[in-house]
Amino acid sequence: MDNLEKRKVETSTVCPLCKSEKESMNHLFRLCEISKRVWKASQLGIISTNPTFLSCREWVTNFVSYCLQDLEKNSVRLTMFVAVLWAIWSHRNDIVFRYMSTDPTSVMTAVHIYVARWLKATDLVSIHIGERQIESDKSRPMLLWRLG
Ligand SMILES: [Zn+2]
Repeated sequence: MDNLEKRKVETSTVCPLCKSEKESMNHLFRLCEISKRVWKASQLGIISTNPTFLSCREWVTNFVSYCLQDLEKNSVRLTMFVAVLWAIWSHRNDIVFRYMSTDPTSVMTAVHIYVARWLKATDLVSIHIGERQIESDKSRPMLLWRLG
């Protein structure tokens, strides 16, 4: 039984994001084509191609554990990782409960907002991820990631 079913989260049999595969945690967060586009745009270097190698829980645990080994170096990566997971989940719920349309760009916008709030809360001005910069100051425009 999938974790979503165990937690009594109502699921249709079809993923709300792509509407073409069965919904599961592994699919929603890792294998869905929409989620893959978001991960690619996040520039975290996450490419999900092997669904049977690790469970979704192991995958998350491994990434978090990796970041915690050198938190000072990886705190931004960890923040971005959690922000992407949360944004995907929130978007899934917006589609299911608010009848919104699938929009990977809005997922990345949400990620930017979450990370910008974190930057503001931790008194950081901006971060660079790959070639992109995210700023906490709302008066300056944030660069949007391109979704491939
Ligand atoms: Zn999907």
